Amino acid sequence: MSRVDLDAFRADTRAWLEDNAPASLRGRPGDMFHGTWGGRRGDFESDDHRVWLERMAARGWTAPTWPAEYGGGGLSRKEAAVLAEELKRLKLPAPLIGFGLVMIGPTLLQFGTEAQKRQHLPGIIKGEIRWCQGYSEPGSGSDLASLQTSAVRDGEQYVINGQKIWTSYAEKSDWIFCLVRTDPGARKQEGISFILVDMASPGVTTKPIKLISGASPFCEVFFDDVRAEARDVIGGVNAGWTVAKALLQHERTMVGEVFARSVLGGQQELLALARAAGLGPPEGSLEAPLVRDRIAQSAMDERAFMLTVQRLQDNARAGQPPGPESSILKVYGTELNQRRRQLAVEIAGADGLGWSGDAYDDGALGLTRDWLRSRGNTIEGGTSEIQLNIIAKRVLGLPDAGGAA
Ligand SMILES: Cc1cc2nc3c(=O)[nH]c(=O)nc-3n(C[C@H](O)[C@H](O)[C@H](O)COP(=O)(O)OP(=O)(O)OC[C@H]3O[C@@H](n4cnc5c(N)ncnc54)[C@H](O)[C@@H]3O)c2cc1C
Repeated sequence: MSRVDLDAFRADTRAWLEDNAPASLRGRPGDMFHGTWGGRRGDFESDDHRVWLERMAARGWTAPTWPAEYGGGGLSRKEAAVLAEELKRLKLPAPLIGFGLVMIGPTLLQFGTEAQKRQHLPGIIKGEIRWCQGYSEPGSGSDLASLQTSAVRDGEQYVINGQKIWTSYAEKSDWIFCLVRTDPGARKQEGISFILVDMASPGVTTKPIKLISGASPFCEVFFDDVRAEARDVIGGVNAGWTVAKALLQHERTMVGEVFARSVLGGQQELLALARAAGLGPPEGSLEAPLVRDRIAQSAMDERAFMLTVQRLQDNARAGQPPGPESSILKVYGTELNQRRRQLAVEIAGADGLGWSGDAYDDGALGLTRDWLRSRGNTIEGGTSEIQLNIIAKRVLGLPDAGGAA
């Protein structure tokens, strides 16, 4: 697409957004974890959030680069970048977030048959179906390939028995993408299939797990003689490990990018906290040299990380699906965010110790909960240690140190 066409696309996009983006949502950008998740049981923060989703979904702009034949926007990477810039200019929230858009959707585009794409992608794009991820089991986390949930073929269906754990938002989700053992006799990675299961199927039960932060964002999921359709196996029977790893690369890229974005401007937040704690005047340098040094280090780390993210995003724009380099984004983004959250509560001192109350983003409570939540980010999607193993083995080509990858 020529520069002139791209400029015309920008002008049209800007005009459309001016006409269609609800005024109440401007200046409220949100992020990948806070927003409209959609789904059969989904609720909207306001009527304007519902209108925003409907209008954007009608253009396919909830999934701007996905093909138009499945309901996506059909935009080129460059056009999608222009759309993102225009949304950012008005500080608008994403109309829709969730694992459908960032995990199972890209995986279906990579591995799904035509029929599977036609069945599942439109519901994701319109925000009608919310997805959750059934990978971890009580005995299988880092060593994911040891999973035991079984699926036995019966005609055109599979009968699934077993248990998943740490399934984020399972109780609010409509469908689950699940790893199951379809060949117990094969080498562990070679007996796994990747199957899609409707959470409303008889025999699926969920039990919430309460966290130290007070929230309960994930569940145990039990499968008792659950029937799933054989046509919903993705990537072939006993070939699920390849699909599972590709999905994790999409997940890790997403997690890394989220922290690249949310840490931007982070030093401003830290400086404001330090000033509020009496460590410096409202303008000018901080008087506390140690705090000043740590904030400066955090700002430099952020800048270096952003440059790495941009380099990998350029590869993505050239059409390459994410590779093992996604582990670099995951480990660095989450560890950086954790250091920043730690620094924030240290600077705030006693004011960083909020506990009771519900308003997540409310001052001290927000600081405390963000600090606690940042611990989980280095575990979900594969722990930091596992990412380092993957980087050593697959990016640097060092000898195998063991563990899942
Ligand atoms: C907030 C959150 C959300 C999550 N959401 C989901 C979800 O939606 N769906 C889902 O399926 N799962 C989810 N998980 C689970 C997550 O994927 C697992 O917790 C994670 O993979 C680690 O597995 P584990 O908890 O069994 O720990 P373990 O595998 O028992 O690991 C324990 C410790 O040992 C270390 N370790 C293990 N093996 C090695 C090795 N080979 N080399 C070096 N160190 C090693 C680990 O790094 C870790 O520190 C979520 C977890 C969190 C915290």
